[in-house]
Amino acid sequence: MSNLDRFKNTIAQTSDTPVGLEIDYAEGVYIFTVNGEKYVDFISGIAVSSLGHRHPKVIQAIQEQLNKHLHVMVYGEFIQKPQLEFAELLIAQLPENLNQVYFVNSGTEANEGALKLAKKATGRTKLIGFKNSYHGDTHGSLSVTGREMYRDPYLPLLPGVYFLEFNSFEQLDLINEETAAVILEPIQGEGGIIPSESEWLAEIRTRCDETGALLIYDEIQSGFGRTGKLFAFEHYHIAPDILCVAKAMAGGMPMGAFISSKKIFEAFMYNPPLNHVTTFGGHPVSCAAALANLKELLSGNYLANASFIEEEVKEFLTGPGITEVRGKGAMLGLQLENRELTQKVVEDCFEQGVLLGWTLHSNTLIRLAPPLIIEKKQLTDALHIIKESIQKHYGA
Ligand code: PMP
Repeated sequence: MSNLDRFKNTIAQTSDTPVGLEIDYAEGVYIFTVNGEKYVDFISGIAVSSLGHRHPKVIQAIQEQLNKHLHVMVYGEFIQKPQLEFAELLIAQLPENLNQVYFVNSGTEANEGALKLAKKATGRTKLIGFKNSYHGDTHGSLSVTGREMYRDPYLPLLPGVYFLEFNSFEQLDLINEETAAVILEPIQGEGGIIPSESEWLAEIRTRCDETGALLIYDEIQSGFGRTGKLFAFEHYHIAPDILCVAKAMAGGMPMGAFISSKKIFEAFMYNPPLNHVTTFGGHPVSCAAALANLKELLSGNYLANASFIEEEVKEFLTGPGITEVRGKGAMLGLQLENRELTQKVVEDCFEQGVLLGWTLHSNTLIRLAPPLIIEKKQLTDALHIIKESIQKHYGA
């Protein structure tokens, strides 16, 4: 039996057409297969490998932690140095009200925790989400994900969730005194790389302040430098009450977090105590990796490189077949004219060693999210391949 057949046989499948690359190793911007092929990872494992694969500082931190201890206790009981140091460094980068961190294992779990925290801290249950959003696949996150196609098979989900139009001023009065939280991505990722508009976001912030609803930002995809700032909300100068992060946080290790104020987090301590716990959240190896990852992000010119990537891509990828390139930094979406062209370009680039992908809610948008370590020549070589492929298949 081929390894592809074994894979299809034993690993629960979520796609009828898995990419099926058989990985040997990955280093920097490249992924190498067991057949000796080399791919430029132009999607960073879906916005994870921002410092590239196996960044030496991250690897070193992981190795050092491995020699000390792995799991020792469930979340929130023991003092573990990598957890503490990482939390302190992270908080130091954030607005004053975001001063405590709750560590979890993934993006969706961060959103789950944030939603529970908002309900407990406000004593309310109503939730506001946005159309075309994506917040994860567990029940709570799915309940606020703005795509019926994904929600419908799992109904009933959480009650009291209302979906508003992203970037629209209509129906904002639905954010009222019954609302526990408004959850949004400052730049929608799976919905098609759609940045929020400053005035709209400011209005949402105002509505939340007026009504006591908590504003949750899901920066699971946009966080940790991807957009050219450490967090996308810095482009807008509008802070949330709860910030959810994951993906690029720990340099390729699994990790997530939701961050809020000490005051809001008090809601988790009482009635009953221990009302939100996790076994592996804040795993010391993930925290050690995350600390090294954040130190490196802050010391290098990675954020500037994200902005450079945006400029290069927007300048270069124009012409027939291309409707738009949108997004910020290295969180970009290449909007093509139709589905067929999009599919052909993704396939063609794959054959030429450039790994691209779709976003979940769109079939005419190519996700461009290279690692922030990508060098100019690596970037332009990949962009040439993409552009030539569009030219070849457009109208063909
Ligand atoms: N929120 C956003 C904005 C995401 O992009 C994702 C993952 N694509 C998630 C939540 C869910 O994260 P995870 O897959 O780690 O659960």
